[in-house]
Amino acid sequence: MSNASRDRRTVCVIPGDDAAPEGVNASLRVLLSLGLPIDWDVLPIGAELAELDVAERERFVHDRIDAADTCLFGSTNGTTPGATYMRWGRRTYANVRPVRWRPGFRSPLAQPDGIDYVIVRENLEDAYIGVMGDAEALRASGLIGPKARLVWEGEGRFAVKVITRPGTEAVARFSYELARKRRGKLTVSAKTNMLPKTDRYFCDIVREIGAEYPDVAFEQYIVADMAHRLVLRPHGLDVLLLPNLYGDVLSDEAAATLGGMGLAPSGCYGDDYAYFESAHGTAPDIVGQGILNPTGTLLSAVMMLEYLGFTDAARRVDDAVSAVYAAGEHIPPDQGGTASTDAFADAVLAALG
Ligand code: ATP
Repeated sequence: MSNASRDRRTVCVIPGDDAAPEGVNASLRVLLSLGLPIDWDVLPIGAELAELDVAERERFVHDRIDAADTCLFGSTNGTTPGATYMRWGRRTYANVRPVRWRPGFRSPLAQPDGIDYVIVRENLEDAYIGVMGDAEALRASGLIGPKARLVWEGEGRFAVKVITRPGTEAVARFSYELARKRRGKLTVSAKTNMLPKTDRYFCDIVREIGAEYPDVAFEQYIVADMAHRLVLRPHGLDVLLLPNLYGDVLSDEAAATLGGMGLAPSGCYGDDYAYFESAHGTAPDIVGQGILNPTGTLLSAVMMLEYLGFTDAARRVDDAVSAVYAAGEHIPPDQGGTASTDAFADAVLAALG
C-alpha cells in the first residue's frame, strides 16, 4: 500500500430513519466541502434498507461498518441496523456527550454563558444488559432475600442492573484521560445511598482509579442532587462520569439546558473503534418538513474529524457553527429562528469561507 492510500480514511455514513437522514445529508454537504482525504461510503436510508430481510440488512450494514475506519450514524427507529453492533459488538464503552453553550443557543437558563463540560456515559452495562423477566421467576430463583423490600405479591417484571469492575475501570480511565486533556476535574455520580452494591461500587472504583491520576481533581454526588446541579450549578463541571441509565437521562437534561436535543452531539468510543451520532432520536413528527436542526449531527461529525486526526478541519467546522449562531441570521426553528435544515448548512458553508 502506498503512503498516499494509507493516509486516506474511510467513513461509513448511515443516514438512518425518519428525519435523521435530513441532518446527515446537510452535515455531509459541509464535510464534503472540506476536501479531506476521506472516502465516504454512504449507505441507503432505512426505508430502502427495509427492502432486505432483517438478517440480510444486518449483514449488509455490518460488513460496510467493518470496512470503514469509523461511522457517522443518523438515528434509528429500529429499521436501520448497526447501532447495537457498533455499541456492544465493537465494545464502544464510553459515550461522550459534550455540553457546551454557544451564543445564539436558546437556553432556558438565565446564565448559560460559560457552560462547558462533557458527560461520559458508561455505554455497555448497568440496566442495559438486556436481562429482564417476570417477577415470579425472580421469586423462584431464591435471589430475593429476607431484607428485600418487594411488598406486593402479584404479577410483575424485573430488569437486572450489573456493574463490572473491568467495565467501570475502562470508562473511569477514559474519563480521567479526558479530564487531563481538559480542565483537570472529574465528577462521578450515582445513587450510592440506595444502591450500594452497584452504584457505590461504581463510584468507589472510579475514586480508586483516581490514584493513577493525582493531577485530576475528584468529586462525587448522589445522582438526584446531580440532576438538580445540572440546572442550578453547571458551570463548575468539567468531565461528568455516569453509569449507563443515569447518563442516558441526565445527558438529555443537559442538552435541554443548552437549548434542546437538536444541539447535542455524541461519540461512542472503545479501545479500537469509535462511531459518532447526534444524541437526538429520529424525530418522526417533523419528517420531510426541512426543519430538523442538523447542529447535533454536524458537531458529532466534528468529534469524528478529531478522532480521525483532522483536527484543523474539525476546528474550522466547529468555529463555523459558532459563527452562524453568533451572527443570528440563520437560526433553525427549534432555536427560535426560521432557517431550514439546508439554509443552516448553507450558512455554515459560507462561514467556512
Ligand atoms: P428516541 O426514542 O429515538 O430518542 P424520540 O422521538 O423520543 O426518539 P427525538 O427523536 O429526539 O426523540 O424527538 C423528540 C422531540 O424533539 C421531537 O418533537 C422531535 O421533533 C424533536 N427533535 C429531535 N431532534 C431534533 C432536531 N435535530 N431538530 C429539531 N427538533 C428535534
